[in-house]
Amino acid sequence: MAAHQEKKLAEERKHQNMQNDTKTSQGQWGRAWEVDWFSLASILFLLMFAPLIVYYFIMSCDQYQCSLTDPLLDLLTGNKHLSDIWNRTPMLTYRAAAIYSLWVSFQVFLYVSIPDFCHKFLPGYVGGAQEGAVTPAGVVNKYEINGLQAWIISHVLWFANAYCFHFFSPTIIFDNWIPLLWCANILGYAVSTFAIIKGYFFPTNAKDCKITGNFFYDYMMGIEFNPRIGKWFDFKLFFNGRPGIVAWTLINLSFAAKQQELHGEVTNSMILVNVLQGIYVLDFFWNEAWYLKTIDICHDHFGWYLGWGDCVWLPYLYTLQGLYLVYHPVQLRTDYAMGVLMLGLLGYYIFRMTNHQKDLFRRTNGNCRIWGKKPEYIECSYMSVDGTKYYSKLMTSGFWGWARHFNYTGDLMGSLAYCLACGFEHLLPYFYIIYMTILLTHRCIRDEHRCSSKYGKDWKCYTAVVPYRLLPGVF
Ligand code: NDP
Repeated sequence: MAAHQEKKLAEERKHQNMQNDTKTSQGQWGRAWEVDWFSLASILFLLMFAPLIVYYFIMSCDQYQCSLTDPLLDLLTGNKHLSDIWNRTPMLTYRAAAIYSLWVSFQVFLYVSIPDFCHKFLPGYVGGAQEGAVTPAGVVNKYEINGLQAWIISHVLWFANAYCFHFFSPTIIFDNWIPLLWCANILGYAVSTFAIIKGYFFPTNAKDCKITGNFFYDYMMGIEFNPRIGKWFDFKLFFNGRPGIVAWTLINLSFAAKQQELHGEVTNSMILVNVLQGIYVLDFFWNEAWYLKTIDICHDHFGWYLGWGDCVWLPYLYTLQGLYLVYHPVQLRTDYAMGVLMLGLLGYYIFRMTNHQKDLFRRTNGNCRIWGKKPEYIECSYMSVDGTKYYSKLMTSGFWGWARHFNYTGDLMGSLAYCLACGFEHLLPYFYIIYMTILLTHRCIRDEHRCSSKYGKDWKCYTAVVPYRLLPGVF
């Protein structure tokens, strides 16, 4: 009898422990539940200054030939007042509003109305209905992967209308660049505001919401994990992967067309930027199903950071090199241009292969070959909100044995190549590599904090086997 009672008590204790573990994991896994002063200060800084930074960069190209220091010098010496700069800034126009509304509506249409057909004839391409990763609440969302098709249709229509039917000029994006900036801001703020209201009052999945109680933090980092309208309109996938990224290559093409119009030629530096960034964008769409397993979709909630960031920050600051080259048409020496091309391609190769190795490893549950050998890994476990225990594996061979985020290193090499293509006359085109270094280093630390909370001691074992983050032997 006593033995029976003891067994029952032990079972109750085990159950209690599991509940506590669950609470701990619910409290830790994913976005923070409590806001420290540093996060709050950073968020307030970004909310206040990120829109100004974008404006400053675009304005300095428009009014100061891309010099970042001249506007400041003008203001500090009293040569110009803020109102002088503002008065010379193009305002919102009906034309820009019409172009932007048409663009976003068309992307919504392509996203929700045309099921993927590319996977039916492109060997190796994964499209159509695909599943995302398990959310902290244990939900597995379905997505319609049709981004490649949206990109192809948009670009075919662009070429047909700009070059065959002459319905608009290929310089249309450059010619309306600042008025379009206001439209992008309106959409970015509207969608972020809608997201927080939706998160509070009618979330898609209440169990996957996080409310810290700090309005600024919740607005910036988002409340809902996967806000949706209907079955298929997923905010995160749409804003991350449609209006801004599909436009990225069109924006670069428009800058190249403007360079041709103004200077009578398209320089090799402009071609390099178009080609290297084009590969990066096409890679994104070719691997969109893989993208469902990246941090943006798997771990980040949808707030201003993603909503405004995807609408404004990405299309305006990721395309600075092309914009710069319109004002400064740099013709590179052939050997230098080849060096930049090699750096860009090597960076891309590392970026793609590292991501591919993890994807293959996770898809096959480790039953694959990495560099001709069976992969090495560490077994680990974690729990979802409802207390269900899941098992996972962390690979310790291939590029993942060199460093814990070698994919970021490849990305940084590619980013540096875009900047080097612009020569050394101005700082502005180098903003991208500075920003990406900060973004990916911070992302690496953020991700590791999350993984450590998720996997606990298993993560410690992993970091002991793979001690470096980005550069073996250095960091
Ligand atoms: P990763 O693809 O590196 O994903 C990190 C996640 O992978 C971890 O949270 C963990 O998730 C899992 N993981 C970590 N280590 C291992 C391992 N050893 N074996 C198996 N799984 C592991 O990060 P991102 O999603 O941030 O990046 C994806 C790509 O997108 C990168 O190449 C990055 O450079 C690029 N990127 C580009 C940006 C841009 O603006 N251009 C912005 C952000 C990213 P789990 O919980 O499943 O274990």
